[in-house]
Amino acid sequence: MTSNFDAIIIIGAARPALLSPRASPKPARPSPSSSKLFGGTCVNTGCIPTKTLIASAHAAHLARRAQDFGVHAGPVTVDMKAVKARKDAISGQSRTSVENSLDNLDRCTVFRGQARFESPTTVRVGLHRDAHGNDPHSDPHADQVLLSAPKIFVNVGGRATIPDLPGVHDVPILTNSTILDPPLGRVGLTETEVRAAGRPALIATHPMSKVGRAVEKGETQGFMKVLVDAETKRILGAAILGASGDEAIHTFLDIMYSKAPYTTLQRAMHIHPTVSELIPTLLGDLKPLT
Ligand SMILES: Cc1cc2nc3c(=O)[nH]c(=O)nc-3n(C[C@H](O)[C@H](O)[C@H](O)COP(=O)(O)OP(=O)(O)OC[C@H]3O[C@@H](n4cnc5c(N)ncnc54)[C@H](O)[C@@H]3O)c2cc1C
Repeated sequence: MTSNFDAIIIIGAARPALLSPRASPKPARPSPSSSKLFGGTCVNTGCIPTKTLIASAHAAHLARRAQDFGVHAGPVTVDMKAVKARKDAISGQSRTSVENSLDNLDRCTVFRGQARFESPTTVRVGLHRDAHGNDPHSDPHADQVLLSAPKIFVNVGGRATIPDLPGVHDVPILTNSTILDPPLGRVGLTETEVRAAGRPALIATHPMSKVGRAVEKGETQGFMKVLVDAETKRILGAAILGASGDEAIHTFLDIMYSKAPYTTLQRAMHIHPTVSELIPTLLGDLKPLT
């Protein structure tokens, strides 16, 4: 028997799952779930686990530098099992939250299993069972279900596009976010891109060694940079490499979204002592890009 839906969304996971929103009331579904890796790359192997591991590395780094801050912490060792357990717990919470939010989505049924197209509008799903033989689908005796919908979305991620730059294929390149310490926050055009565009522009840079908050934290590596269109006064791009750069960059992002001139941001009074408070100062140093 075919179950009809308004749309079918095939999502990737370690064990693929399939979402089927429909206009009819939400049908009852037995639990528990057999799928373990809802959330795709970000939640399971990408953004969240890496930032969790970085937090542990940062804690070890700070502990080893404790004496620089007048703190005596003794020999520092890292328990990698505990680090991994923390990472798994945080990633797991996120995964469960994604899974629960899909399970509880109104007018949406989640089928956990391998999806196979049978026609442009039908998909057969081989259902997964858990260790107890339970089946997440409404029919506990079925091994598979046939689903039909006029629209089927395949959401199994994509691959990064590599631009055809001279020499780019001769060097190792990263196609995912790079993990940096200190962090790098960057928006809009780079200095190189602004130069290539040939538009009259203004530029300013400010070293993190002259940002009070960075000095207080003992994290003075890096700099801030901003590029502005000399005629429209709109910000073309900005980068903050250094302490809290990945957070402070949002100040630029917001003003760029609002399409306001840089002078609006230059007049703002930011909270002291923060990295962001130096952004108006940076904008006050703008000079023609030569
Ligand atoms: C180490 C790392 C760190 C990252 N850190 C960041 C970060 O800090 N910030 C940020 O913005 N982005 C980060 N990313 C990138 C981010 O994870 C991806 O941009 C994002 O997850 C893409 O989402 P998506 O839905 O397009 O695909 P994905 O999340 O990749 O989801 C696709 C899923 O489909 C599955 N799949 C593929 N083909 C099939 C198939 N035929 N059948 C069944 N399943 C299939 C895949 O296994 C995957 O689980 C990071 C990536 C990595 C690898």
